[in-house]
Amino acid sequence: MEAVLDGFSGLELMRQGKGITYKDFLILPGYIDFPPHDVSLEAKITRDITIKTPIISSPMDTVTEAEMAIAMALLGGMGIIHSNLTIEEQARTVEKVKRYENGFITDPIVLGPDKRIRDVDAIKNRYGFSGIPITEDGTLNTKLIGIVTNRDIDFEKDRNKYLRDVMTTDLITASEGVSLSEANGILKDSKKGKLPILNKEGKLVSLLSRSDLIKNKDFPLASKDSSKRLRAGASVSTHPYDRERIEALIAKNVDLLVIDSAQGYSVYQIELIKELKKKHPDIQLIGGNVVTTEQSEALLKAGADALRIGMGPGSICITQETMSSGRAQASAVFHTARAARKYGVPVIADGGIGNIGDIVKAIALGAHTVMVGSLLAGTKEAPGEYFYDNGVRVKRYRGMASVEAMEAGGGAKRYNTEDQKIKVAQGVSGTVVDKGSALDFVPYLIQGVKHGFQDLGYKTVPDLHQALESEKLRFEIRSLAAQMQGGVHSLHSYQKPLIGD
Ligand code: GDP
Ligand code: GDP
Ligand code: 5GP
Repeated sequence: MEAVLDGFSGLELMRQGKGITYKDFLILPGYIDFPPHDVSLEAKITRDITIKTPIISSPMDTVTEAEMAIAMALLGGMGIIHSNLTIEEQARTVEKVKRYENGFITDPIVLGPDKRIRDVDAIKNRYGFSGIPITEDGTLNTKLIGIVTNRDIDFEKDRNKYLRDVMTTDLITASEGVSLSEANGILKDSKKGKLPILNKEGKLVSLLSRSDLIKNKDFPLASKDSSKRLRAGASVSTHPYDRERIEALIAKNVDLLVIDSAQGYSVYQIELIKELKKKHPDIQLIGGNVVTTEQSEALLKAGADALRIGMGPGSICITQETMSSGRAQASAVFHTARAARKYGVPVIADGGIGNIGDIVKAIALGAHTVMVGSLLAGTKEAPGEYFYDNGVRVKRYRGMASVEAMEAGGGAKRYNTEDQKIKVAQGVSGTVVDKGSALDFVPYLIQGVKHGFQDLGYKTVPDLHQALESEKLRFEIRSLAAQMQGGVHSLHSYQKPLIGD
């Protein structure tokens, strides 16, 4: 018997004469023959970088600084450090994330024997660690003579003491050339916190830290580079004065740069992508924001390694009202992803993700990953303190083009308003409720997305995209009445879950 083609293909869904967003449609269910834990959400964030959790925290000053970027990378996603920071602050924030976990630490911070305990305290304050190898002259060019760790100094009242007087000198070390697994074995057997790796002359070439073995065990999905450092992204603008920022971020081994622009189809962005691709062929560049095929093609031709999709869907955003241009987000994701597929380039659905179903829908329409702001702004790892608003525990969340954020710095760059005395706001400032720790909340989202994939009958992101392309995946528009019926209704009262709009 011939299968009945129910519902609409992706293309048919988009050709009904209206711009649509996630709420407007549903995906018809498929056949289940596997449990949710068989689903892999691994997806490309850029041409060359794959992550296991397709969620990215947005470069906004109320969403992503070091703590959020570390949490997101540990969970298998990624955080993009915002640029409402000085160049030095943003570069240092990237460094903090990159130094959080390691395999071989190839540029360990070392001191000389004539430094004092308070110098170790200063390093601890800046980076969070205090295991410091001591070399003859305090650089990596001379022999290792000892190590100072927390245990050598934690009960020492006199912080002016010389390190030569407190350091441990009987060291267990390994020789250059040892593999990471072998070195991990030696470290485990030694029961020490650090394993220095030395060359033939006794000079320190790298350092291994026991706490990294534990992090690796606790966070098996973590997004890491080839040196097992956590991955971190950062946002930059196309303005000439940000060239210095770009170089500073690259010097700190940033994994990718997001060119932060509300309307990315501009001569400035195209030139920047071409220039950077020539100068730094290895750095991954995310272009955007775009919503149409024409915009996408231009950035893809210039060499973008991923596209960031969205003009106006953000929860704090008033662009569509103030500027009149933009696109409904589901339509934007479908059409841009279709254009990018031909180039083998992934797209990021940015903005308007309000619940788990929106993540599944964005991916089903061709997105590889989603970028979120409001969903994470209420977690402990977002910048800012909690406070009470009418008895509800909340955190501040603001658009990067809100008056407040523009006054604080970078937001104006994104919205091309910085040279003008009169700033037109394209975002608002508000609050979001406490969502606890991202370390609990993101796994909850991910488990939900896996259930969503299971209901559709697909185990991987490429499989789902293949079904979209072959038109096996079927969609249907929902009437307003159907949308209301699809939400909670006919109850006198009910308890809202952690998320959902
Ligand atoms: P410590 O015992 O105070 O050094 O701290 P931990 O061992 O608990 O944590 C050190 C963490 O910082 C590990 O994840 C290291 O990979 C990381 N790290 C990054 N760069 C350095 C460095 O230069 N020196 C040290 N000691 N740790 C570093
Ligand atoms: P593979 O891809 O299966 O070879 O495994 P990995 O590349 O994840 O790990 C290779 C070796 O490095 C194994 O011994 C891991 O336990 C170890 N490893 C993985 N991540 C880290 C890390 O962050 N720090 C340290 N010290 N070792 C790690
Ligand atoms: P959310 O996840 O809160 O719905 O949307 C977050 C996204 O909104 C960000 O990643 C960014 O693309 C966009 N955005 C951030 N600030 C502003 C703003 O002030 N105005 C507009 N138009 N969009 C913003």
